Amino acid sequence: MNAFRKLSLVALMVAAGFAQAQEKVLNLYSARHYQTDEALYSNFTRITGITINRIEGKEEELLERIKNEGANSPADVFLTVDAARLAQAEQLGLFAPTKSKVLESRIPAHLRSDSWFAFSKRARVIIYNKGVFAAADVQNYEDLADAKFKGKVCSRSGAHPYNISLTAALIAHNGEAKTEEWAKAVVSNFARAPKGGDTDQIKAVSAGECAVAVSNTYYLVRLLRSDKPADRKIMDNIGIVWPNQKSYGTHVNISGGGVLKTAPHKEAAVKFLEYLSSDLAQEYFANGNNEWPVVQNVDTKNAALESLGKFKEDTLPVSTLARNAAIAQKLSDRAGYR
Ligand code: FE
Repeated sequence: MNAFRKLSLVALMVAAGFAQAQEKVLNLYSARHYQTDEALYSNFTRITGITINRIEGKEEELLERIKNEGANSPADVFLTVDAARLAQAEQLGLFAPTKSKVLESRIPAHLRSDSWFAFSKRARVIIYNKGVFAAADVQNYEDLADAKFKGKVCSRSGAHPYNISLTAALIAHNGEAKTEEWAKAVVSNFARAPKGGDTDQIKAVSAGECAVAVSNTYYLVRLLRSDKPADRKIMDNIGIVWPNQKSYGTHVNISGGGVLKTAPHKEAAVKFLEYLSSDLAQEYFANGNNEWPVVQNVDTKNAALESLGKFKEDTLPVSTLARNAAIAQKLSDRAGYR
């Protein structure tokens, strides 16, 4: 073997070794911001030997970053917490189509597309102060506009993705004009200007600062099963309503993700998504962050989550929420719901 061939063989072996080493890494861009997800990720590394480099940020920031990085983006997987955001990333052409028998068999068809998959579900429910109102007073999202709630409604920003997706659903069900009227009336019922997150609304309702609000379910379950007595006490005053059970059902949102078109580690990326659909990971979602699994018949082992019971879900396609998100944003702005 001449020196040149020997050298190129070494180069080839080094390159192969490098490629192998590369396979052991996954670059994750995540807009999930839940402490308990730590265990979810470290468990993946334990099982597969693939190290996860995680970059966390706000949904918009991460999307911008992926767009700006373009073909050079190190990102393999984008995880986010809102249906409309996933659909937006898809529309921007950021995701690669993913074929996986595991994902197709594990995740129901309405909770995935060709390029992204939902891994957990949360519902947006109405909460009320039991000392002030009864469940019968506020059975539907539309009821929040009723004049009897003047000075009684608390809310986080209307521009937050959770509220934009809810407004997008209302536009689909009631039309744009009626939804704008609704948003204006809700704003005129506010006890105070929107601030804080869902947990802040729960606390304000419980303390009597206001008496009605909406919240994602996992924030409620988090307080219900907290080891701090003060947290559980907050929930003593809180009644929970599954909205719109006699019509289109309660608004449900998802968290999910997909493999990026420019992913340097596609194989590891698909492996990671498949892992998120495993019984073990699904239980992490249910038990760690109090969300519902998307995979059927997973034992949540979460009594507080199960205590919420069953309800009728709004089955609007995620693509509809995504399509209406921009309209919802403008409408909320016009209504002063910021
Ligand atoms: Fe959240």
